[in-house]
Formats: sequence, C-alpha cells, structure tokens
Amino acid sequence: MNPPASISSLHHAREQRLASLQQRFDLHRASFPAEWCDYGSDDPVGDAEHLVNSCADCGTLPQLAGDGVTWTATCACGAQAPAAKMRWQAWLQWNRSPLSVDPAWHELPFFFISELGEDDARHKLARLREHLELRSNLEGARRVCGYRVGSGYLQRLKAYHGWCCYAQELLKRQSVAQPPAKGIASGLHNTRHA
Ligand SMILES: [Zn+2]
Repeated sequence: MNPPASISSLHHAREQRLASLQQRFDLHRASFPAEWCDYGSDDPVGDAEHLVNSCADCGTLPQLAGDGVTWTATCACGAQAPAAKMRWQAWLQWNRSPLSVDPAWHELPFFFISELGEDDARHKLARLREHLELRSNLEGARRVCGYRVGSGYLQRLKAYHGWCCYAQELLKRQSVAQPPAKGIASGLHNTRHA
C-alpha cells in the first residue's frame, strides 16, 4: 500500500531541500579554500567553558545554572546572560553580551586569525560564516532525510558558527577604522537584568 499523499509529499519536499542544499554547498566549496576547513584545534563545545570572559562589573568568572530546559551564565554579582538550550551556547551568550570583557579579536583560538591583518580576517570570517551556515544546514537536512549525521557533530558545526559570529562582532567593535559600542553592534538587547 502506498503511504498517504501528505507523508510522501513531505518526504519528497525533504529530499528536494537536501538536493538543493547539496548543490549550493558544492558550488560554494568550489571556491572555498580547502585549508580553511581546518577551524582550529580547540573544541567549540567542550572548550567553551575555558574560553569564558570575565565579568565586566566584578572581574570574576560566571557559573552555569540550569533549570532542566535551559542554561544561563550567571555571575555572583548578579549579572546574567540570556538563557540558551545548550551549555556551549550559554557560555557564548555571556561572551557576546555587554556583561563580559572581550579578548582582543586576534586572541580567539578559532579559525587561525591571529596572524591576519584586519582586512584579511574580516574577509576570512565572512566566508567562514557562510561556509558554516551552508554546511550545518546541509548536515541538518541529511539528518532529517535519515542519513547518519551525529547530533554532536551538528552541535559542533553550530558552535563553530557561533564563535565565527562572535569573532566578527569583536573585529567590528575593535576595528581601528570605526569601533561601535558593545551591545549596539551585536544586536543584543535583553542582556542585563535590573
Ligand atoms: Zn560579576
């Protein structure tokens, strides 16, 4: 017996989306430097805790508090970052919020940007961000279609993407050309609790 039409058309739509994402990724890979696929030796999921910034108010490091659904980086002084589903996300939210003290952009351990000048780093991060978006969308679509794609692997791609966005924000804020204030450039609003 054939499956009901709605299920088979849903399946078809998923396969179509996968094919179109695969095509976009292949096109992108044709001009993306192969060596840039080495994102660095740090693990953006496992090492996130060790890369956490100190509190802008009191200088200490925050702790993660979980309620069973979300995680929140919270400082003893009361500063609290937006909640996140994953632990690595909660650390990164804290770093990206105005509550923490940023490192210099070239000190971030990912993507081998430490030796680059501003323009080269800006260019590399923009391409990497696009690369990581396409790659995690593609792997997510493969997983939906039943391919063996580990959830840990997908999380790592998403985490790399998050660190890439943070690196871009740092570079923008610390640019010698025209540094905007923290929080305004990143588009974060609900970061400080009253
Ligand atoms: Zn604090």
